[in-house]
Amino acid sequence: MKRILSNETINYIGKEVKVCGWVNSIRVHGKIIFIDLRDISGILQVVFDYKNQEIYKIAEKVKPESVIELKGIINERPKNMINLKIKTGEVELLAKEIKILSKAETLPFSVEGDGYDINEEKRMKYRYLDLRRERMKRNLKTRFEVISFMRDFLKKEGFIEVETPILTKSTPEGARDFLVPSRLEKGKFYALPQSPQQYKQLLMVAGLEKYFQIARCFRDEDPRADRQAEFTQLDIETSFYSQEEILDLIERLYISLVKELFPEKKIQKIPFPRLTYKEVMEKYNSDKPDLRMDKNSKDELAFAFIVDFPMFVWSEEEKRWDAVHHPFTRPQTDNIKEIKKNPENILAYQYDFVLNGYEIGGGSLRTYNPEVLEAVFEVMGHKKDEIKEKFGHLLKAFEYGVPPHGGIAPGIDRFLSIVLNEPNIREVIAFPKTGDSRDLMMGAPDKVDEKQLKELGLEIKGIKDKDKKDKKKKEKK
Ligand code: ASP
Repeated sequence: MKRILSNETINYIGKEVKVCGWVNSIRVHGKIIFIDLRDISGILQVVFDYKNQEIYKIAEKVKPESVIELKGIINERPKNMINLKIKTGEVELLAKEIKILSKAETLPFSVEGDGYDINEEKRMKYRYLDLRRERMKRNLKTRFEVISFMRDFLKKEGFIEVETPILTKSTPEGARDFLVPSRLEKGKFYALPQSPQQYKQLLMVAGLEKYFQIARCFRDEDPRADRQAEFTQLDIETSFYSQEEILDLIERLYISLVKELFPEKKIQKIPFPRLTYKEVMEKYNSDKPDLRMDKNSKDELAFAFIVDFPMFVWSEEEKRWDAVHHPFTRPQTDNIKEIKKNPENILAYQYDFVLNGYEIGGGSLRTYNPEVLEAVFEVMGHKKDEIKEKFGHLLKAFEYGVPPHGGIAPGIDRFLSIVLNEPNIREVIAFPKTGDSRDLMMGAPDKVDEKQLKELGLEIKGIKDKDKKDKKKKEKK
């Protein structure tokens, strides 16, 4: 007999079915035992009658969260037992057979309820259990629906999704790179992409014109509570689009997405306000102002675009100019002398996408004139031969006919946490890391074998063994 899902049982009244899932709860009521069976579709009430001693005895002893298989007849519930809170609330399964497929030990925490009160490190260590709770399953499902919507929308707009490499070379997005040692070329390293920035620009040189990717980005930043070392963004690049055409595309995407998937939400203002950096800094002293009228209302979405950012910012730490966005951003002038002489005055075709006080994306038109690009690198303190070594591939590509291009990259994690009213982005990521980038479930990062190091030509030197230190500390206590 083929297994059916619990929410399908309403179509099987009077018929025999087979269902499988987890024991959500057991209630023993003298001559009757109720088991709530949980599967991906929801909950089904199962009844064990005392008269059927053989299976009654098994049901009595089954531990919650065990995986079971049941056969029996779907009956309508007596009128006074109907539970309209669940999809299958008008029926129940009268069990005839029970098979325990896998017995569960007592779980480290309950998977009923929203779980906010449980220690988060514990939830992360047993993430596969934490994900059993309905809220977390709903979050993952919504994440999938949002991503599917984006894909469908962009496909209809003529975009194509292209995968770009994870093992690559450093791309400056203002953070530190994660490095991967090369075994075949000892002493050399790949970098994990901080974003697919250079690849997507090279796809424009290739003539793809409308690219997108649900892209994973890696940034080795210092510990911060609500950041992840790897995160996902909807990466977009276009050729021949004006800044306004890019903003319009994003605006249409998010309006239709909210209408379709989050109809209970109210978008505060359409079209989304376009505010200049100067304006918002003067008015709100923030480049990601929270423009909601009522900041307590959980269903209000105040989207906005912040435009006309300065091109450069002075880095006191490094005593040099840095790009506010990244060096590929196009200054609002082609005057190379001016760029070099007065970097503080140069505005950029750069825009941020903000929502309820968060930056949920950013992008820019790109410099496609190699001379301007070199001038920008120079302002940022790069030497000529260094520019060639680091960005020669891009400058070379721009010698062969490059279209004016630009793009944007809205983040997926932050947007989801806002529309799902979650307190942080870890709640919308299946397997998140802690603020200091540890994967508590897998135990990463971790040491590797001496043999692996040797193969890579690496040697660990002068680093105190943290595990040993921790152990000693514990012993002392
Ligand atoms: N690569 C940029 C980022 O990750 C986005 C862009 O300019 O398209 O922030």
